[in-house]
Amino acid sequence: MRLASRSLSWIVPVLGLVFAGTTFAQPTTLKAYRYGNTYYVAVSDVANYYGLGADARGVVNRAEYKTGFAQLEMEADRRDILLNGVNHWLSTPILAMRGKLWIAEIDVLKVLDPVLQPGRLRKPGAVVRTIVIDPGHGGSDRGTRGRSSFEKIMTLDVAKRVERDLAGSGLRVFLTRTADTTVALEDRVEFARVKGADLYVSIHFNSGGGSAEGIETYCTAPAGASSTANFSGNGSDRDAGGDRDAVTNNRHDAPNVWLAHCVQKSLLQSTRALDRGVRRSRFYVLRYANCPAILTECGFLTSLSEEQRILRADYRETLAKAIAGGIVTYKKTLDTPQGLVGTSDRIK
Ligand SMILES: [Zn+2]
Repeated sequence: MRLASRSLSWIVPVLGLVFAGTTFAQPTTLKAYRYGNTYYVAVSDVANYYGLGADARGVVNRAEYKTGFAQLEMEADRRDILLNGVNHWLSTPILAMRGKLWIAEIDVLKVLDPVLQPGRLRKPGAVVRTIVIDPGHGGSDRGTRGRSSFEKIMTLDVAKRVERDLAGSGLRVFLTRTADTTVALEDRVEFARVKGADLYVSIHFNSGGGSAEGIETYCTAPAGASSTANFSGNGSDRDAGGDRDAVTNNRHDAPNVWLAHCVQKSLLQSTRALDRGVRRSRFYVLRYANCPAILTECGFLTSLSEEQRILRADYRETLAKAIAGGIVTYKKTLDTPQGLVGTSDRIK
């Protein structure tokens, strides 16, 4: 075992940051240590850095932190963690070593930081104004088939409801299709680019064997990280590459995960569905999107009970309102009206 150390220099010193109404001093840096080919940060250091208080478990293989504004739970050897009410999939499992838990540096930067400090994503004068909603599949591409439903019909219905639910939110909303038509994946991405989209939300329903059910939301895997997709999907559900290379959308890694978190959390709160987490993939429409982008799988049409719910118009309205609510939360976090300088300016 070889440990090399370096500082996480781009987690910059933040002293006296006003966060959730409380002022506290953060340590100036987090130190990462190399183990094998991966750099890790001690979870206790991470908790200290983000002001998460003391570990409530006091055992080696699990950690639980909870404060008035944040929650973090993790277990050794697992790739999913609970972060502020949502499961998040990491690029690397949590490591137990030398009596401590360790989390990969890339997961601190690409998962924890955007969710624990979304205010850092603000840019002066930037306002989230134009969004593209992408109803998955359509026309000759039916998507997943349930006993009594086609995915392409359900996605269009929910997308139109999201559009209606966002009326009056100050957002300009465009749909990549408004009828049962075939739209190529390339054309969906190009549509968003032409419209000058500030964010892109692709709506899907899932398929899986056995008793699979629940809701999951994807964003692009960071460069160097593997996907957490199931590879059984079709059409735009299909992962466009299992490689770990950087893709176009990687420059939006931080807002991607915050958008995915907001929408997934809103969906879970509204539906009480099983939380399958914020996952990572290189789906075509995600990897080539030139704005923050997510793909949400709003339930399994292959689950009899979930399909029955999805077939109900009032449940689809619940889904749509939840997606719209997540988008509005994201917008409120990132909007920085002209003349108002957010605290994020001081901590860049
Ligand atoms: Zn789909």
